[in-house]
Amino acid sequence: MLDDVLSYLESNLANSLSDLKEVLRLPSVAAKGENMEETAQWVADHLDELGLESKIHKTSGQPVVTGHIDVGAKRTLMFYDHYDVQPAEPFDLWESPPFEPTERDGRLYARGVADNKGDTVSRLWTIKAFLETGTDLPVNIKFVVEGEEEVGSPTMPEFVKDNKDFLKADGGIWEFGGSGIDGIQEAWLGLKGLLYVQLEVERLTMDAHSAYACILPSAPYQLVWALSSLKDSDSRIKIDGFYDDMKQLSESDLKAIAKVDLHETEVKDHYGIQHFLNELKDDALKEAYYNAPTCNIAGIESGWQGMGSKTVLPAKAMAKLDFRLVETMDPEDIKNKLRRHLDNNGFEDVKIAWYDGYPAAKTPVDHPFVDVVNKANKIVFGHDLVVHTTSPGSGPLYLFTDSVPMVSIGCGDFDSRAHSPNESIIIDNYLLTMKRVAVVMDEMSRW
Ligand SMILES: [Zn+2]
Repeated sequence: MLDDVLSYLESNLANSLSDLKEVLRLPSVAAKGENMEETAQWVADHLDELGLESKIHKTSGQPVVTGHIDVGAKRTLMFYDHYDVQPAEPFDLWESPPFEPTERDGRLYARGVADNKGDTVSRLWTIKAFLETGTDLPVNIKFVVEGEEEVGSPTMPEFVKDNKDFLKADGGIWEFGGSGIDGIQEAWLGLKGLLYVQLEVERLTMDAHSAYACILPSAPYQLVWALSSLKDSDSRIKIDGFYDDMKQLSESDLKAIAKVDLHETEVKDHYGIQHFLNELKDDALKEAYYNAPTCNIAGIESGWQGMGSKTVLPAKAMAKLDFRLVETMDPEDIKNKLRRHLDNNGFEDVKIAWYDGYPAAKTPVDHPFVDVVNKANKIVFGHDLVVHTTSPGSGPLYLFTDSVPMVSIGCGDFDSRAHSPNESIIIDNYLLTMKRVAVVMDEMSRW
């Protein structure tokens, strides 16, 4: 009975949290490639425990863990999660150590708890609740848990190509989500695409005394000039053809967006700003949020970064840029356009030293699975989901949307600080999101 499942989840919350804390103690930082196999093994062991058939797939990058059980049900539900986390630096801004999960004021703090180990473990425990209460699983289950989401999922295309038959389901729950600034649960149906590049300039064989700035060229200036050529002060991206392949929002997208409140005042207060970029508001703000591509400087490095002064003319300079792309922009094409832009503007010596990317994707807002998830949310949380047709963030959703309609919901909240110090979740939400997945499974069997 579903009621048994829900009360099992409630009475075993502490056990579920202690499982979660165990995996949070493993610092599986994909960018550093540390503890990855151990964490993949942790996930596989827990899938095995549930009686799912687990497999650790070796790839050219970090392993992908899958699990599945076919109970002969009409519908199949897939979960996409990741066991890797973002780097925890800067450590000194954490109030408790990032890899020592700590409960404070009804929240659980640790790197990766919101993004996305909390969701991963909550979903495992939802299945466990069916098993332990002797309740038949209402749907067949599939898990895909990768280890490189936080570094752009470079080996997922290869994994997906090799596992096409496995990657089919009637509905899928994507990795992240939670409540917005008003505490109302939100669902995300799409993700923007991404192009990430590292630009490098080297103009001298070694750093020089800055006295020679009168006769020697400057790498950091060349880089800064190149960066400033990419964008106007009103944030219009100046790369030739950048906006050419942008798909405009559909009628049903616009209808869904009209229902969303982006809580402009609260968000401005949260970030301590008077105005959004270009004084965007109302419909224009919404259109930018859901359908504006970006060109963002994620980091710049050159010369002296230490205390006090050092008069130096740096030999090299480097910048990391991320471009958020919308449907139907192609990251490879944008990278080529960036190269052309640099070459045509006197920046042939600015190298694109490294790049990565994938396109945007989304599940149609009128897909019946979206209704199933909303119904479950209403039963557990007592209100309709705020449905976002796409997230301003990115992920390799495009690999799945042809064969699985994905909806992203999860245990985070507006103050979860994913990717930042003091990442956390509200423990009550964690419990409710487990219950919501149980009800999604139940509702799916009647769909
Ligand atoms: Zn993340």
